[in-house]
Amino acid sequence: MHKYENISAPVIKRLPRYYRFLGELIAKDVTRISSRELSDKMGLTASQIRQDLNCFGGFGQQGYGYSVQSLYNEIGHILGLDHLYSAVLIGAGNLGKAVAVHMSFEKRGFKLIGIFDNDKNKIGTTIRDIPVTDLDELEAFCTEHHTDVAIFCVPKTATPEIAERLYRLGVKNYWNFSHYDLSIHYSDIIVENVHLNDSLMILCYKISDANDAPN
Ligand code: ATP
Repeated sequence: MHKYENISAPVIKRLPRYYRFLGELIAKDVTRISSRELSDKMGLTASQIRQDLNCFGGFGQQGYGYSVQSLYNEIGHILGLDHLYSAVLIGAGNLGKAVAVHMSFEKRGFKLIGIFDNDKNKIGTTIRDIPVTDLDELEAFCTEHHTDVAIFCVPKTATPEIAERLYRLGVKNYWNFSHYDLSIHYSDIIVENVHLNDSLMILCYKISDANDAPN
């Protein structure tokens, strides 16, 4: 059972971009925008924008445009950003540190409540005022602090065992930077994969494809 069954996956994929763009308009004190202006600025067709926004209520008025703030609020609501899901990050290496430091979790619906690692040199250091805790304490921590999400920034080989521990603790939502394919092993989880190497390889493919194309 899903709350927004009428919103298709491609529309959902576009929502963060709309949200980001509308946020920038709010920062510039823009209160209304037409679908034509939105389409010019976002590189989508005006009819696609109208179709997308109609999916969740249609805040437009003919000839008057969309209320930027209402649209921003509604998209934020659909994305669930008015929640604060608690998250733990596993793996305080270079990537884990970058994710922890760089991400504005609170603005994206999450609160980072714990960071774990098994490296004695990292345990006890702090990142964003959050102490890096020994992974041995994962069960105690998740029992004491309600945890909605785990962020995997460990090598692929370390992920299966840690995922199993989290799954048993009832933590079944994952933001997965490791190359371990979690959804093959668990059918009732929610996972969003961020595979940076895959993205880089797709870029490589696109460059090669364009350069090797026959004239
Ligand atoms: P560093 O060289 O400082 O370890 P890195 O980012 O190159 O950084 P990776 O090998 O990618 O390190 O590992 C990412 C992080 O995951 C590291 O901090 C490492 O200590 C941690 N890690 C690896 N295996 C496990 C594990 N089984 N349990 C918990 N943390 C782990």
